[in-house]
Amino acid sequence: MTTLFLIRYGEIALKGKNRAFFEKTLLQNIKKALRDLAPCRIYRTHGRHFVEVTEGDATAVAKRLQEIFGIVSISPVAVADLSLEAIKAAALEEFAKVARPGIRFKVNTKRANKQFPLNSMEVSAKVGAHLLKNLSGLVVDVHEPEAVLDLEIREEKAFIYTERLPGLGGLPVGVAGKGMLLLSGGIDSPVAGYLALKRGVTLEALHFHSPPFTSERAKEKVIDLCRRLAYYGGKINLHLVHFTEVQKELRLKTPERLMVTLMRRLMFRIAQRLAEKRGALALITGESLGQVASQTMESMNVIERVTYLPVLRPLIGMDKHEIMALAQKIETYPISIRPYEDCCTLFLPDFPATRPRLQQVEEAEKALDIEALVAGCLEKTEVLTIEL
Ligand code: ATP
Ligand code: MG
Repeated sequence: MTTLFLIRYGEIALKGKNRAFFEKTLLQNIKKALRDLAPCRIYRTHGRHFVEVTEGDATAVAKRLQEIFGIVSISPVAVADLSLEAIKAAALEEFAKVARPGIRFKVNTKRANKQFPLNSMEVSAKVGAHLLKNLSGLVVDVHEPEAVLDLEIREEKAFIYTERLPGLGGLPVGVAGKGMLLLSGGIDSPVAGYLALKRGVTLEALHFHSPPFTSERAKEKVIDLCRRLAYYGGKINLHLVHFTEVQKELRLKTPERLMVTLMRRLMFRIAQRLAEKRGALALITGESLGQVASQTMESMNVIERVTYLPVLRPLIGMDKHEIMALAQKIETYPISIRPYEDCCTLFLPDFPATRPRLQQVEEAEKALDIEALVAGCLEKTEVLTIEL
């Protein structure tokens, strides 16, 4: 049996000149996402996207469509020829699937095709009467219906549906430029990556690890997180930066209480270089305000000065429990709580400065050959391409 889905997208329509580009990107993203799922015909007509599932699991296709950014909602639709009789017959067949005695309903008609001889009110009335006559116990309620039969009368066909399955909304990945995500193995940064994808950003990811102090397992964890993000964002390049030398140098040559600040300044410098190389226009982190020592306003101020790139922090206004709930929803949470050590927890001071002073930080950095450290890290960076 063939199932046809009508795809609705919201904000794309608002974007004026970019509209065609946005629509094309969404179409490509849908094609990629469904490629291995079921044989489908995917096409666009009259400002709508359609996915026709010719065989296989249409429910799985629906679920996948509901998790593609840019899609606001989808509906499985029936198609009828442009005659009132055909529309009535198809409407009855569709509505019979949801009808039960006592259900309050209405028919809602949109007539895009003005050639059709009846106006939308007339179509709704005639189809409604047909349903009342053929299904027992229905009650018309145009104000608070429990079920709505939607009819769209378009150029060549009429589309009929009763269901609207919500999508994720947002913008299609690929319409908003590229960002470099600083991805730790923690709970927050994968969620930040997800929210950046939601606004159409293409992601590359960057992870600092410190072998042999961090394990192979810790690396696998980050790869798994990246794979989960690839579910929403398509292919992601993951840069694994060898950070051991930096951490050793910091421990040897700088004051312990500034360690976190100095380490994060080095992370941002390295991230900027990689971003430049890969054409990313912003850095993205999982920071939220006030969570830990390095996430006070004072710390962020001192840390961010080393880069001219915008640092996007999609979680800035979220509480930990909100972040955790979203991590659960996108299924990164169980990966994030695997117990392997992250490089940031190595050699951590007991009392990191929560209000580092720029002058002191810059003074401390004089003991380091920053350029050599950055270059050394970049040289040892390994790139993996992560796909689903
Ligand atoms: P997360 O849960 O994302 O690790 P966090 O609350 O533990 O965040 P921090 O450890 O201070 O906070 O890290 C703040 C942000 O810095 C992270 O969200 C991430 O973007 C980046 N970051 C931290 N450690 C790493 C790392 N090893 N590799 C890449 N980015 C990192
Ligand atoms: Mg962390």
